Amino acid sequence: MTETTATTTSDADLEAHLDATHAARMAGYMDFLRIPSMSGQPAYAPEVRRAAEWLAETLRTIGIEHVEVAETGGHPVVYGDWLHADGAPTVLVYGHYDVQPVDPLDLWTSPPFEPVVDGDRMLARGAADDKGQIHAHAMAAQALLETRGGVPINVKYVFEGEEESGSHNLEVWLGEHREQLAADVAIISDTGFFEGNIPAITVSLRGLMYAQIDVVGSPVDLHSGGFGGAVANPAMALAEIITALKGPDGRIRIPGFYDEVVPLTDAEHASIANLPFDEEAYRIATGVSALVGEAGFSTLERRATRPSLDVNGLWGGFQGDGTKTIIPAHAHAKVSCRLVADQDPAVIFGRLQAYVEAIAPTGVTVTVRDLGGGRPSRTPIDHPVTQAAARALEAVFGRAPVYTREGGSIPVSASFESVLGLPVVLLGFVQPHDNAHAPNEWMDLGNYEKAIRAIVRTFDEIAELRLGGAEQRGAGG
Ligand SMILES: [Zn+2]
Repeated sequence: MTETTATTTSDADLEAHLDATHAARMAGYMDFLRIPSMSGQPAYAPEVRRAAEWLAETLRTIGIEHVEVAETGGHPVVYGDWLHADGAPTVLVYGHYDVQPVDPLDLWTSPPFEPVVDGDRMLARGAADDKGQIHAHAMAAQALLETRGGVPINVKYVFEGEEESGSHNLEVWLGEHREQLAADVAIISDTGFFEGNIPAITVSLRGLMYAQIDVVGSPVDLHSGGFGGAVANPAMALAEIITALKGPDGRIRIPGFYDEVVPLTDAEHASIANLPFDEEAYRIATGVSALVGEAGFSTLERRATRPSLDVNGLWGGFQGDGTKTIIPAHAHAKVSCRLVADQDPAVIFGRLQAYVEAIAPTGVTVTVRDLGGGRPSRTPIDHPVTQAAARALEAVFGRAPVYTREGGSIPVSASFESVLGLPVVLLGFVQPHDNAHAPNEWMDLGNYEKAIRAIVRTFDEIAELRLGGAEQRGAGG
């Protein structure tokens, strides 16, 4: 129940509005996609800013208030809000308007920044990740403001411009704007549906710990004739260390590694077991001869609910053609772990470092360096906003969503939890095989259109909730 003065409206009014504005909506979406806002390439910084300005202007035109292109020290954040739903919950909506690079260009069937409608698909870089989802949010707000004169909840938009290049400035910016960003919950729209376009809500993301192991013996390469058998070999020492990181059962052997892992409940095991997942198709698509992993867990559990450890790179010694009889002076490995709730990347790094130092063979010097990371995040399935979103998805897409766990990371998700203290609901609408980050990225236009309705419906469902301390947070009037 809200005290908003906005008049109620029927689905018919919403549909009439969306019908009447369809052409303009497509034109706006395509204009947004034409801006090559590739945040990872410095040469494109002006284009990232142009995308921010375009988005800010669009929000202003719709009737979103306090819109600004906010400086972060890197690419700007686009902020805007609408805070007139007195007494209703406040939701912070997050998306990112920057995009991945487009190489290799020759694999695109049409230029990546010249959007094309191909059947049910919008084809362009950013169509799905994440401009399509941002645009659906903007169009939902427009539909609400035009058909009802108001949004049923208070909403604050945070659209980032450097998600695809590491989000280096976002956490600091969030910390500096805690008051402005106060809310009851964050909705992140940067994920998608499950295999075959099954509506899904992502309820956990893995975190990351990234380290480099450096093993040094003699200051220079040594002649293996003169020294072989008399000194330690750094490449072999590194191999011994790496071998000791994981057992034949797939368990990571770093002492204490699993201490903070929150075990899955029986209900969670069951919900994962019930997901329609074709393991053999997954194996074939991956191109490997067999799927392997931690004993006692299914492939779906291993790739998203369990922590993992991988060597990402390994080098040392002679790598040219032919032979060179040396004992290399040094050898190196990049090692990373995907983490699950409640593992902390700094704590895990400390345990890796202590273990590697403890097992380092005699005769070499071993150092372990922290190359950064991010925390995992997790949303309870029974959170009222998760359930509100689930009801909205079922109403609009005609099927109750499945709850999925992603093996990858969206570091901002953990930042909303740790910096702003907000629970996070991951509500995204893209299809699983949308070629995000790859050539020929596409967005299903049916999903895009339904996303607009699902966002409206989610806001209506949230408006009915009593969330703790929801009164008029930061409301301007
Ligand atoms: Zn994204």
